[in-house]
Amino acid sequence: MADREKQAGAVLTIDLGALSRNYRLLRSLAAGAQCGAAVKADAYGLGAIPVAQALAAEGCRHFFVAHLDEGIALRPHLPADADIFVLHGPLPDAEPEFIEHHLIPVLNSAAQVAGWRQAARVAGRHLPAVVQVDTGMSRLGLSRMEVGNWLDNPDFLRGIELRFLMSHLACAERQEHPMNGAQLEAFHALRRILPRSRASFANSSGIFLGPEYHFDLVRPGAALYGIAPIDGAPNPMAPVVTLQAKVIQTRVIERGECVGYGATYRAAGQRRIATIAAGYADGWLRSLSGRGYALAGDVRVPVVGNVSMDTFALDVTEVPPERMHAGAFVDLISAAQPVDEVAAQAGTIAYEILTSLGGRYHREYVDEQPAAQVREAFELNI
Ligand SMILES: *Cc1c(COP(=O)(O)O)cnc(C)c1O
Repeated sequence: MADREKQAGAVLTIDLGALSRNYRLLRSLAAGAQCGAAVKADAYGLGAIPVAQALAAEGCRHFFVAHLDEGIALRPHLPADADIFVLHGPLPDAEPEFIEHHLIPVLNSAAQVAGWRQAARVAGRHLPAVVQVDTGMSRLGLSRMEVGNWLDNPDFLRGIELRFLMSHLACAERQEHPMNGAQLEAFHALRRILPRSRASFANSSGIFLGPEYHFDLVRPGAALYGIAPIDGAPNPMAPVVTLQAKVIQTRVIERGECVGYGATYRAAGQRRIATIAAGYADGWLRSLSGRGYALAGDVRVPVVGNVSMDTFALDVTEVPPERMHAGAFVDLISAAQPVDEVAAQAGTIAYEILTSLGGRYHREYVDEQPAAQVREAFELNI
């Protein structure tokens, strides 16, 4: 057993081969468009650098982060011809940082556009940007009134090279939702009156709404990481994440005895309880208390009592005791219990499960391709 594995209380395995297969599937579904990748929030908790490098090796050249800091951290690890777009755009006075680190802002308001125009004037050259327009989500992007200002002002984009006009879907995972068609129509209406440009509209789920949603660049995140893109339909994506945690100890409790903080679980009869080395500090959410499951081999075992910071308890009465020795692994996220299922148990969405995964896990990156080969392919592109 490798030292790392001996030391680990829990192991998070990220399958970069599955990630690459998911990228290829999404790219083929959006064949008329370029396929970018949302790698914000540390690639949804999976590690922005290894994830982005694996995608770059597949040919991805459009990467989306949310914060400026994320872009600065990622820039040195990607080929020079890969674009990194910062979804939040420049907050006041941050424009020079974008220029210095070769980051492309998504401009979300007339004020951000004005700041970038001014930065271009100071730099004495055109600067690239994406402009986002709001089509109904009321989160980021130019409002209808700001679009009006744009139409009235021929100098609105002076000095700005408009790479893409962009908008974002609010309900794309629900294919029947009327918001999808309404937002698509609003986006078309804006494109008809605004200067001609390439366009970007679809996230993961948007890709599955069909080609009329693809435009020139799609921006999947969740589906790359194995999250189901369509509500209520089978998941076509390959699972990327496996999370396993070790048994610390087991005990037998008798009828009437309690488990965990708050004594919320009381045994109705004799039970065997295993204490597991992961807790809410690791992103095994407290809302899984008394609701979640793990897999001990192929036996599905329930979480009992409240999840603690560093541990939680499983009722392993149905598992042969010799299989539940200290150091034995149980599976928390696996092909048999995908991240979407854990999210449903926790009363949240799979995005929150992945982005909550803590920093204490031993992380293993695996790939059908040897790592050296991936690195070589990437270096050739620099
Ligand atoms: C996060 C995000 C994406 C990716 O969305 P997924 O649902 O994870 O595919 C795309 N575009 C924008 C603007 C985002 O914020």
